Amino acid sequence: MTNDQLQHAIDLLRPSGDSRLLTHLNSCVHCGLCAESCLFYLATGDERLTPARKADLVSSIYRRYHSVTGKLLPWLVGARELNSESIDEMVELLFGSCTLCGRCTMHCSIGVDVTFLVQTGRKMLSEMGLVPATLQATVQAAVETGNNMAIPVEDYRDTLQWMEEELTDEVGDPEARIPLDKPGRKILYTLNPREPKFFPLSISAMAKIFYAAGESWTLSTRMYDVTNYAYFSGNDGEAALIADRLWSEMKNLQAEQLVLAECGHGTRAFRWESPNYLERSFPFPVMSSVEYIAGCIREGRIRLDPEKIRERVTLHDPCNLVRNGGVVREQRYILQSFVPDFVEMTPSGIDNHCCGGGGGMLSMSEYNEWRMKAGSVKAEQIRRTGASIVVTPCHNCVDQLIQINAFYKLGVRILTMAEIVADALIIEHETRIAKQSRAPLK
Ligand code: SF4
Ligand code: SF4
Repeated sequence: MTNDQLQHAIDLLRPSGDSRLLTHLNSCVHCGLCAESCLFYLATGDERLTPARKADLVSSIYRRYHSVTGKLLPWLVGARELNSESIDEMVELLFGSCTLCGRCTMHCSIGVDVTFLVQTGRKMLSEMGLVPATLQATVQAAVETGNNMAIPVEDYRDTLQWMEEELTDEVGDPEARIPLDKPGRKILYTLNPREPKFFPLSISAMAKIFYAAGESWTLSTRMYDVTNYAYFSGNDGEAALIADRLWSEMKNLQAEQLVLAECGHGTRAFRWESPNYLERSFPFPVMSSVEYIAGCIREGRIRLDPEKIRERVTLHDPCNLVRNGGVVREQRYILQSFVPDFVEMTPSGIDNHCCGGGGGMLSMSEYNEWRMKAGSVKAEQIRRTGASIVVTPCHNCVDQLIQINAFYKLGVRILTMAEIVADALIIEHETRIAKQSRAPLK
């Protein structure tokens, strides 16, 4: 690391720039009320992992370089140098033991935005080239290949071909298609690269829903990745570059509407953050697939069989979609419309606990042990519901929940929203043909 990099990191805390930052850096009253919000503290009891300690780590460096007392009498105000000791602690606490879930921010008695301070600390580490190598590799793969798992285009095409065969079998229609690179369709749909790589059946599940709804849609080969791990690594330039590709692909394909696959952080990074990164507003509507599916049910475009899912089902709320993104009711509307035994976790909705896999944790294998430990909070929540199916509209959460399921021997099935809906879909060929003739595919 160079002195310039160090100085740039310190400059990110300069008070002249951002009044929002200044407010949050100076507001914590150390009441400790946020401790019990954090899954890392709840799972370990380690007071170093409380949200207030993470926020204070960033604030203490601000005080050392940007406050008069901190410069003259650092010991008096707990001001800290940005040196190898504090940097190691930043990496460990801000990357290794925070999922940016935002629960502490919601619970803070005076409104300190702890998550914003943790993100600022991550930006400082990014300036210094100290993003954990595993997370940076994920970002790099997306920047260099167009998807975070570096899936070659031919493999992607083969997988979609295979899923198209699944679809035709499932719906009993040899004409059913998974459209690729079709210009002028109403919807451009995205994927989490985990789908073509590990969970392709979730692609055919969503294709089945589009089929039943008689939808005009397409996938893209050039840009389909809904994720944006640069949002977690703290590099806004790379986050903007990744987001901009999806904007461009909407233009290339002249689609009317963007539907984002089940991915909490991808939805947040694109829908809520990309207009900030790119300094422009959307010329097209953007929605999550959960909102799309709920709309199809509401409008009678798809019908679901209430006899199909007989087991008890619970719902895990992805932090970035729900608490931080405001999509709360639609997933409940979907499940309550056809699942007779649906139970909520406690707490749930905007107060739900993170699964432990957010914030880029899933890609940072060096913190696997902490991640699984933090997951004990979610494991206990699931166990208490007595459910045998856990639905979550986020592929990152799916991965973490699958691992928690095995680790804590919960014996549940983990499904995405598209998967459980596709299982209960009533395929009506005549109705579908009528829908298409009302809204012909372009
Ligand atoms: S954002 Fe979540 S994981 Fe991070 S400190 Fe706050 S409660 Fe803990
Ligand atoms: S609840 Fe807010 S004010 Fe209290 S310790 Fe936590 S961050 Fe600081």
